[in-house]
Amino acid sequence: MPPQSPIPWFDEFVGVAYRYYDLRMNVVPLFADRKESASLWYDIVHQWIDPLIKIRFLETGDKYWFIMGSDSQRPDTNLSFFKELSKSENYERFKKGHSGEAYLRFGTYAEKSLGDVKKDAVCNCTHEAEDHDEGDGDVCLFNKCNCTKFSSFQVNLLKKKKTVTDIKFLKDVKSDPLVWNCINANKLVCD
Ligand SMILES: [Zn+2]
Ligand SMILES: [Zn+2]
Repeated sequence: MPPQSPIPWFDEFVGVAYRYYDLRMNVVPLFADRKESASLWYDIVHQWIDPLIKIRFLETGDKYWFIMGSDSQRPDTNLSFFKELSKSENYERFKKGHSGEAYLRFGTYAEKSLGDVKKDAVCNCTHEAEDHDEGDGDVCLFNKCNCTKFSSFQVNLLKKKKTVTDIKFLKDVKSDPLVWNCINANKLVCD
């Protein structure tokens, strides 16, 4: 048998959302394009074997690496996923609340502009749409806020899901083979 070639790494997704949905915490890698996310789900994640799916969070100060992979029923087309992200409140909530189990779903991410949202939609600057001036670049009128353009995002979760029970938060690169492999294969610098 030829030696099994290493599983390629994939980082062309926009982020990861953490949502409480269907009675469980959900880990949701986000894509800009619905078709792309659907085909990656079908070709890759759908072929994964649930108890073998691993999700790792390698924490490096204010940031962390999201690292995910599994053995596949179709090893020749398998991929592993990774992305460096900033810690967020939702991330911390997930870390505290997951209790060893989560649903994995894919989601799509859409930027919304001032014209697309209701008055009480919240901007990334934390102020509502009504606090932004329509016209003139949608500047935030809130006292001392330096936001110059309303922007908000909406996450849509795809229906299909997998149950993940192998979830670890790590600080040390060498303690986990998947993490070690990710850091080396992608020549990531983390300190
Ligand atoms: Zn704003
Ligand atoms: Zn603002």
